[in-house]
Amino acid sequence: MKKFRRILYGGDYNPNQWPREIWDEDIRLFRKAGINSATINVFSWAKIQPSEHEYYFDELDEIVEMLSREKFDIVMGTSTAAMPAWMYKKYPEIARTDYKGRRHKFGQRHNSCPNSLVYQKFAKRLVEKLAERYGSNEHVTCWHVNNEYSGDCYCENCEKAFRVWLKDKYKTIEALNKAWNLEFWGHTIYDWDEIVLPNELSEGLENDKTAFAGISIDYRRFNSDSLLNNFKMERDAIRKYDPDTLITTNLMGTYKNLDYFKWAKEMDIVSWDNYPSYDTPWSMVAMNHDLMRGLKGQPFMLMEQTPSQQNWQPYNSLKKPGLMRAQSYQTVAHGADTIQFFQLRRSVGACEKFHGAVIEHVGTENTRVFREVAELGEELHNLGDQLLGADNPAQVGIIFDWDNYWALEYTSGPNKDLKYVDQIHQYYRYFYEKNIPVDMIPVDGDFSKYKVVVAPVLYMIKDGMQEALENYVENGGVLVTGFMSGLVDQSDNVHLGGYPGPLRKLAGIWVEEIDALAPEQSNNIRFTDGMEYDCHLLCDIIHLEGAESLADYSSNFYANSPAVTKNSFGQGAVYYVGTQPEQKALEKILDQVTVYSNVKPLIDIETKLEIVRRTVSDKNYYFILNLTNETLSIPQVFADKVDILTGNKLTSQTTFAPYDVALLCVDSL
Ligand SMILES: [Zn+2]
Repeated sequence: MKKFRRILYGGDYNPNQWPREIWDEDIRLFRKAGINSATINVFSWAKIQPSEHEYYFDELDEIVEMLSREKFDIVMGTSTAAMPAWMYKKYPEIARTDYKGRRHKFGQRHNSCPNSLVYQKFAKRLVEKLAERYGSNEHVTCWHVNNEYSGDCYCENCEKAFRVWLKDKYKTIEALNKAWNLEFWGHTIYDWDEIVLPNELSEGLENDKTAFAGISIDYRRFNSDSLLNNFKMERDAIRKYDPDTLITTNLMGTYKNLDYFKWAKEMDIVSWDNYPSYDTPWSMVAMNHDLMRGLKGQPFMLMEQTPSQQNWQPYNSLKKPGLMRAQSYQTVAHGADTIQFFQLRRSVGACEKFHGAVIEHVGTENTRVFREVAELGEELHNLGDQLLGADNPAQVGIIFDWDNYWALEYTSGPNKDLKYVDQIHQYYRYFYEKNIPVDMIPVDGDFSKYKVVVAPVLYMIKDGMQEALENYVENGGVLVTGFMSGLVDQSDNVHLGGYPGPLRKLAGIWVEEIDALAPEQSNNIRFTDGMEYDCHLLCDIIHLEGAESLADYSSNFYANSPAVTKNSFGQGAVYYVGTQPEQKALEKILDQVTVYSNVKPLIDIETKLEIVRRTVSDKNYYFILNLTNETLSIPQVFADKVDILTGNKLTSQTTFAPYDVALLCVDSL
């Protein structure tokens, strides 16, 4: 497989939306900005295929020739994320049917039924033609299949395909009835054709809830597989003509609908689009990066970010001077090998005309945004290839699992405010603030690499997980888990015999009941040292079965019963957090975890600076990022080191203003 020879710096480029005379000016400005890469042909299907039997490549040929002449790294889109209007008119069955059961008309993007054979036929034919034509071009560095795969479809095509998918999974009707617990409400089925998709007209409820989680979770798996099959079809079509260029599609962080761990197995390299809002915590952005790196355990591409502002958020704040640079280095720090923008030239019309771009509507280089892009371009150019492929070693793994994401948020009760990503993030944030590196890992990951595995709301315990977790802890691992864990199997049926089911022995506790607290309610937990803190959301009522209590509830009828526990198991231990403690209390618990497991932060002193380390061929690169609004002093361990971005030597007096960044390359600290 080919590799990147430099940090790709560029982004989405749509010269087909502009008159020819602008193209030369684009190139002049790109050179000036240090741009070396362009993502093209993402939305050009109607242009390339104006009718069923007609293909027109002249314009794309010209664009590819122009970029090849400039020795750009071309990221080649396949244009299949938005279909031409003529296709709808002639084949209306290619349109999606939504959750409310409405067949869509032509419009928007991500609008094709993934199980439409007509869509598949046209998409495959288009991609084959593109691969045949451009696959041997040495400047095509990466294939970008489709764009931001997303959404779902509830049409007849999908219903039929769902039945086939289910037959393959369950083999017999009896097994399916049991898995979905269809005896409940007398929903037992006797024929595969009685199965209907769980949308709002059937088992689905308003707000994407469901009467039968088993059906709805299987539908999520099926829909993710359906779209993944579309990706694999395009990938295989490219491979027929191009044996060794990287193939990706751009993902979207913690996007709910697609099981990205499963997707990543089919992709050569993960890429993703990073669009934090003005109020997104930096720890959340970092977690998203770590998740994207974790999908394959490899560096990723940052396929899209805006150089200045978005258009689709409620409040599209400008990125303050320096913020885009700092955000870009945070991205590289967490494992990116590319920095790409959406978009290079700002659209003249339609919904993205107010989406920021390298070249703004004024059309010149005399803008703040352009200057900042150009400065970063020069820095990345000077950095060369030294960071490409570098690792991000970590001693802590946090489990992220799409089955759990779906199941937890489908389940009816006990508390509607339970949100999967927020639960994961609160644990991530602790390690982030301590500058302790984290890997985001799948449920079937290799736990033995980590001193600590954190598994918040591990609601669904699938086959094999109990053994894997017990084996990990038995051999000295430290597991952190808590409420809403161990409760159900892969079909959302409860593990009988007492909560937390398969984790009961491991955690050394029995949870008899789960109390839900409304937003205006709270309880308190009292640690063994007497310190007391608020807790919210849920309260597990815990009986000790070998574990010790680290904190008890101090009110309600279950006052004095354990809320947080620790159990020794083999050579390791399990911490169980049975309620939602306020942040300080969670910190106190996780402080104990890190001391017990001997997990070390990257530097010994506390700082509000974000410190990230990447390693490559026994070199250590330390990123020092100030993502706060205050000026911060340098941790002394970095004094006298040279910032390789600026060439400046840091001193013990160096301070970091907001959005200041430094990058050090050192043998050791
Ligand atoms: Zn469909």
